[in-house]
Amino acid sequence: MSGALQTVHSVSEMRRVREAATATRRTIGFVPTMGYLHEGHLSLVDVARRHVDLVALSIYVNPAQFGAGEDLDAYPRDLERDLELAAGRGVDLAFVPSDGDVYPEPQTIWVEPPEDVGRRLCGERRPAHFRGVLTVVAKLFGMVQPDVAVFGRKDYQQAVLIRRMVRELDMPVRIELAPIVREAGGLAMSSRNAYLTAEQRPAALGLSGALRAVREAFERGERSAEVLRQRARGLMEEAGVRVDYAEVVEANDLSPVVEAQPASVCAVAGYVGTTRLIDNALLAGSSSLDDSGA
Ligand code: AMP
Repeated sequence: MSGALQTVHSVSEMRRVREAATATRRTIGFVPTMGYLHEGHLSLVDVARRHVDLVALSIYVNPAQFGAGEDLDAYPRDLERDLELAAGRGVDLAFVPSDGDVYPEPQTIWVEPPEDVGRRLCGERRPAHFRGVLTVVAKLFGMVQPDVAVFGRKDYQQAVLIRRMVRELDMPVRIELAPIVREAGGLAMSSRNAYLTAEQRPAALGLSGALRAVREAFERGERSAEVLRQRARGLMEEAGVRVDYAEVVEANDLSPVVEAQPASVCAVAGYVGTTRLIDNALLAGSSSLDDSGA
């Protein structure tokens, strides 16, 4: 595993690799993904690299986190390109399990998200989503046994839930979060952006545009969460987004706030055509909206 990318297809092979790493006292950093890699995913590889000896990246489209009528079958996939990108970024190990590897028998034990964080925002709209995410992440942690795992702030609610799962279930893995990587215009990178037509791209900018406006309004002194969320909603609608939600929430439990604070998070979701996009930003301070110059 020195330099070249090793591709691992089965759980048993993954275990052998983990044992070899342990025997040679090398730490493993883990980046779970659903593939169709972009710069957002690859930035997580860079973060992992700072903390560990070996970086493992998984590519697995997890059926359990898709609801009926969602885009499981359409989800973009290109394994060959993903492996090239991973190798180019210095990933040591690509873990590409099949459905049969991850779910060799019907799953009867699930990690249920908590009633508070789990039922808000995306949890309210996609009822089985986070139970599917937490369960597969717990399983992948069991397979890879990473020392560190890296998740993006792009999926902010997911990151909050994973941190809580690791804490409450005493999982021996450290979670690192990475900033949102955006395209030049501000659109948060996402595999689902591949669904957008050229005509739909301006509308998709409505999400990051709304977040930027909310941050500016907060900076000018607006503290009413209701005013801020209505502003976000209005701007998204104007851009042509069918708004799913636009909320200003507390950063740790995602409860709605009345008076916005610098550490509050504005979280938005909406449809452009049939594509569901999400985005979020802290109201003040360091934010990837700033990082990208958007
Ligand atoms: P996904 O393949 O969409 O399930 O994402 C895999 C990981 O990449 C998750 O931790 C995401 O939060 C992270 N990620 C996806 N898009 C971005 C982005 N634009 N910036 C930073 N992290 C991202």
